[in-house]
Amino acid sequence: MNRLNINKKWDYSDALEATDHIILKEKYDLFINGEFVKPNSEKYFDTINPATDEIIARVAGANKKDVDFAVDSARRAFKSWSKIKAKDRGKYIFRIARMIQERAKEFAVIESMDGGKPIRESRDIDIPLAANHFFYYAGWADKIEYAFPNKTPKPLGVAGQIIPWNFPLLMAAWKIAPAIACGNTVVLKPAETTSLTALKLAEIIQESGLPKGVVNIVTGAGQTGAEIVNHPDVNKIAFTGSTAVGKLIERSLAGIEKKTTLELGGKGANIIFEDAAIDQAVEGIINAIFLNQGHVCCAGSRLFIQESIVNTVIEKLKDRMSSLVVGDPLDKNTDIGAINSKEQLATINKYIQIGKQEGGEIYQSKCNIPKKGNWCPPTLFLNVSQSHAIVQEEIFGPVLTIQTFRTINEVIEKANNTPFGLSAGVWTEKGSKIFKLTQALNAGVVWANTYNKFDPASPFGGFKESGIGREGGLHGLKAYLKFE
Ligand code: ADP
Repeated sequence: MNRLNINKKWDYSDALEATDHIILKEKYDLFINGEFVKPNSEKYFDTINPATDEIIARVAGANKKDVDFAVDSARRAFKSWSKIKAKDRGKYIFRIARMIQERAKEFAVIESMDGGKPIRESRDIDIPLAANHFFYYAGWADKIEYAFPNKTPKPLGVAGQIIPWNFPLLMAAWKIAPAIACGNTVVLKPAETTSLTALKLAEIIQESGLPKGVVNIVTGAGQTGAEIVNHPDVNKIAFTGSTAVGKLIERSLAGIEKKTTLELGGKGANIIFEDAAIDQAVEGIINAIFLNQGHVCCAGSRLFIQESIVNTVIEKLKDRMSSLVVGDPLDKNTDIGAINSKEQLATINKYIQIGKQEGGEIYQSKCNIPKKGNWCPPTLFLNVSQSHAIVQEEIFGPVLTIQTFRTINEVIEKANNTPFGLSAGVWTEKGSKIFKLTQALNAGVVWANTYNKFDPASPFGGFKESGIGREGGLHGLKAYLKFE
């Protein structure tokens, strides 16, 4: 009997994270010019805990006038922020990083309440990585001329930044830290289902003494994002989100001199060879697809198993899936939390139906699913091929498709046969195979014998419909500079 089966007999005791230290306002205003201000629109919308369906707070919905005000304060702040000593810019950013660390627990709990991700992930991944990004770019602030020798890098001006709901604080950090380190100012819009940690970050920014208007945070839905994109006084657009919206943005910016970075969807291939360390690979496959309920643009959502080990890998995968705990995001035992919104749950369920209709063989682990909230058990599909919609399209949920292969060339062809090009994973003992695949796979990041590892020093971004440009590392600085 497999060792993992023993786990099935265990019953975990509840390990709930406390929420009594969390202070949330009933209503959140916009953060413009260093102050929380009421929206000109006078509109507020609910932000809902996806695990309980309860309203956590109300958040302002910014209209065109609000965006104008935010861009205007960012423009005014740019005059002095771009001129102050680079070392001083660095000091402010270091301060923000340290304040995030000090309040890490609070941020982790709010991230899980507002977005549905397991507290283990928000505590161990999202919040520490967000602080790391501020630390990393704080260090660059006074060294930018050394990063680009023999050039004269200059900031761009006002950066409009639009982020998604899957890693809310982390995406805010990815956007804000390099932009302000280079001397730009920022108008950032969080996603409508997960605005709270960005607004908490606004509190930190206010407390940090960062000059007014350097960072402005406007909340709202897609229309607010479009107002930022189309604003004539914005010099740069950084967007992370769906390929559909990315294409819209690209179209509306065609022919206009605005630097753009787009980090869009993905359909990552995770490839396991017969010589891989199977148990480690299975753990990696689980992490690749089920991290953050599969709401990850670089998720390893297409698994390719070499034919000789198919039965072993599938048996171990099913076994491991049966031990995953689905439920309360605030419980430290939880592996898979709540699906971020009712809309996203409907999308995932639509794809599960399509997968079945197209002849895929579905396997879902049996787990206790809470009555309220948005849930999807870990799911895999066998008997699928390249032409299936669930193999070609991004689902953004805990759904893995499984295909097989015999030779390296066959798997390279299958892995690259996708409109996307964001990420891939390779599991093998052979270094030579790793080198061959990292060259041949058309993906911005290829992990070898690991998956979903992020580091502020490492550039991230995609090819094809996965986007344009890179964030992180030196590449991430370049995206916020012009060279004269
Ligand atoms: P998803 O489909 O994963 O929800 P979206 O691409 O719709 O991703 O959302 C990512 C971010 O883009 C969110 O902050 C959202 O409000 C914003 N957004 C949606 N539509 C537009 C648009 N037309 N222009 C600019 N931003 C938009």
